[in-house]
Amino acid sequence: MTLAEIVATVGQEMAGRRGEGVVADYIPPLARVDPQRFGLAVITVDGETAEFGDAWLAFSIQSISKVFTLTLALERMGEDLWKRVGREPSGSRFNSIVQLEQERGIPRNPFINAGAIVVTDALLEGRPPAAAIEDIRDVMRGLADTDSIQIDEEVAASEAATGFRNISLAYFMRGFGNVKNAVDDVLNVYFHQCAIRMNCRQLARAGLFLANGGVDPLTSAIVTTSARARRIEAVMMTCGHYDASGEFAFKVGLPGKSGVGGGILAIVPGRAAIAVWSPGLDQSGTSLVGALALERLVSLAGWSAF
Ligand code: GLU
Repeated sequence: MTLAEIVATVGQEMAGRRGEGVVADYIPPLARVDPQRFGLAVITVDGETAEFGDAWLAFSIQSISKVFTLTLALERMGEDLWKRVGREPSGSRFNSIVQLEQERGIPRNPFINAGAIVVTDALLEGRPPAAAIEDIRDVMRGLADTDSIQIDEEVAASEAATGFRNISLAYFMRGFGNVKNAVDDVLNVYFHQCAIRMNCRQLARAGLFLANGGVDPLTSAIVTTSARARRIEAVMMTCGHYDASGEFAFKVGLPGKSGVGGGILAIVPGRAAIAVWSPGLDQSGTSLVGALALERLVSLAGWSAF
């Protein structure tokens, strides 16, 4: 089967399952998204692309942004970042506070909310939040090779108005000295990075450097070192899907990161980046149909890392 045939087959097979799962409603504008949406895009390191369905419709990338802020923070701060955030799966919900007290304000990994807030704090570097937000947005535009990526101000404002758990996490870590900037500023940046809107095509394109040892295979731009790309992928594999990361590794067998907007970015090392979007989530917050589509795609293409 060609890549185009595989992607079309997976898209058609998912038609009967569209709408399954529950759309996130704790961020009110996300609750308005049509649960029937389904987009899938694959881009290979040779530049071959294949798409299905709503692959050109932008959605809120939410926690998928954490892969990119982690990459950026490692580039800017180096390995010292790992003194402030761990790299072990948490086994707890993405917005859980329980481990933070025992572990003295050092979050388990950069993909749970507490860890991502620390990474964002590191990226803020005493700059005004607007500068850091613009910086993150511009990096995403560069990686996706398009200027059309926008931040949804309504989603960012809504998260700020309802994000009491994130506010609690940030203050708690500030109490331990692991958030260094003003909490309002850190969360302002964090909520904006989560509110970036991208489509599957752009997201797969932006993640392609991870499939190619840190170097964008289409522009030869060095985004990060191959050692860092490997480590980022390792954290995606072990921590990329909240407290169901083991389940995702078991079924799909690829490094991936999901977001509560229903998107998933998955990396096929040495081969391709895949982005899928279907808004209905499973119990732990990963797109239900998106994960099914990836499981099927990986099996048809023989792309599992194992
Ligand atoms: N902005 C969301 C939050 O902080 C991100 C959650 C997610 O996608 O996992 O709650």
